[in-house]
Amino acid sequence: MERIQLFQGDITQMHVDAIVNAANKSLLGGGGVDGAIHRTAGPRLLEECRKLKGCETGEAKITGAYKLPCRFVIHTVGPVWYGGEIGEAELLANAYRNSLKLARDHQLKTIAFPNISTGVYHFPKDKAAQIAIRTVREFLSNNALPETVTFCVYDDENRTIYQDLLKHEA
Ligand code: ADP
Repeated sequence: MERIQLFQGDITQMHVDAIVNAANKSLLGGGGVDGAIHRTAGPRLLEECRKLKGCETGEAKITGAYKLPCRFVIHTVGPVWYGGEIGEAELLANAYRNSLKLARDHQLKTIAFPNISTGVYHFPKDKAAQIAIRTVREFLSNNALPETVTFCVYDDENRTIYQDLLKHEA
């Protein structure tokens, strides 16, 4: 089976080993996918997140999943887009790479990513998708785990962008 998959829908409903949360630096919840994950997981997720004392941009931390159907949540913080001249691309790549490293180090086989930073953080969707796909392909070519990475797109614009980019071989 292809190691990179595309799925359109709600990441909180995915039965994978880990879903990735596009969190903010506080790790104390927010809107968008972060809000949806905390709502579905229930208040014990926030309790565990409080103990983590936040997360720097581009870094990642792992927690339990509580009422979510997945096993773990990997919280990562993507960059806010300020025009692209202050290292946003590298920070976004770091967010994907550090999430994948955590999954590998916990022997996780399946992981799903939302489109980090493309919501209220305003990273251009096409640029973000190129970085996401490039970073995941490179990681998978050097690592046996995770076995499968699913890009969970929510909006039709991201679905079209990912469909186009994934057609082209690495
Ligand atoms: P950021 O602050 O990193 O931009 P957002 O949560 O605002 O994070 O948006 C990130 C992406 O997550 C957006 O493309 C948004 O459409 C998508 N999204 C929002 N809710 C969900 C959900 N329940 N499942 C998957 N993706 C979602």
